[in-house]
Amino acid sequence: MQTDVHTHTTYSDGSPLEEMITAAEDAGLSALGLTDHCIVTDDEFGRRAKYDLVETYQQRREDIDAARDATDIRLYDAAEVSYVEGTESEIAAFLETADFAYTIGSVHFAGQYNYTSATQYAAADAQQCRAAAERYYDAVVALIESELFDVVGHLDLPERIPALRRHTTRGDYERVVRALTDSETIPEVNAGRVHRSLGRVHPDPGMLDLFTEYGIQFVFGSDSHTPAELGERVPVLRTLADTHDLSSVAGELRASQSQRLP
Ligand SMILES: [Zn+2]
Ligand SMILES: [Zn+2]
Repeated sequence: MQTDVHTHTTYSDGSPLEEMITAAEDAGLSALGLTDHCIVTDDEFGRRAKYDLVETYQQRREDIDAARDATDIRLYDAAEVSYVEGTESEIAAFLETADFAYTIGSVHFAGQYNYTSATQYAAADAQQCRAAAERYYDAVVALIESELFDVVGHLDLPERIPALRRHTTRGDYERVVRALTDSETIPEVNAGRVHRSLGRVHPDPGMLDLFTEYGIQFVFGSDSHTPAELGERVPVLRTLADTHDLSSVAGELRASQSQRLP
């Protein structure tokens, strides 16, 4: 594993670009994907105001270009884009304009559900939790079928929320795998919670056999917001890639051919 495809800078909720690059150098990476949150159309939760890469990506692009002069690491000018069903044409139009090296599409919200916070599920019963989990996978399948993104991020995100944990079924993973086999979209092994509540990567390592059975390849993303996180998580991803014999996408990312070189 030589590329971390998923990191955040101060252009969303992460750390200064230079610090993330230094951490990537220290971790022995040869390429680093800068994937700040990008919300094209506002969601019910009003997060657009907080994550405004739509307005700042050109400034960030200049910063990335300048940083390339000071590092041997390949820097990808990329984005983690929130996928909201029904807004595909707006997302497509913006991505066409922004022309990122690649994009990670992520479901953070679907319908009335917010999968980034536990609050909503505090008093939910098992049936309600199952409905929330199932709704998530409907959105992930729609994301994959939309062909809008190169990568699908943290594909079993509901597992981060204690109340929703274990409400994802093998059938849900099977649905995702089937959609992936018919799509250009590549799944990510995401280390965003390996040292916090969840204690493992996305997707559940217990389900990785399903993906390998269908010949699905992965990219690897630490989802780091700080240099320390990157330093801790990259070794975990490397170990996992070795122990599960996961093949990473040949040539790392198909978008790499079109990446912006200085
Ligand atoms: Zn995310
Ligand atoms: Zn992220």
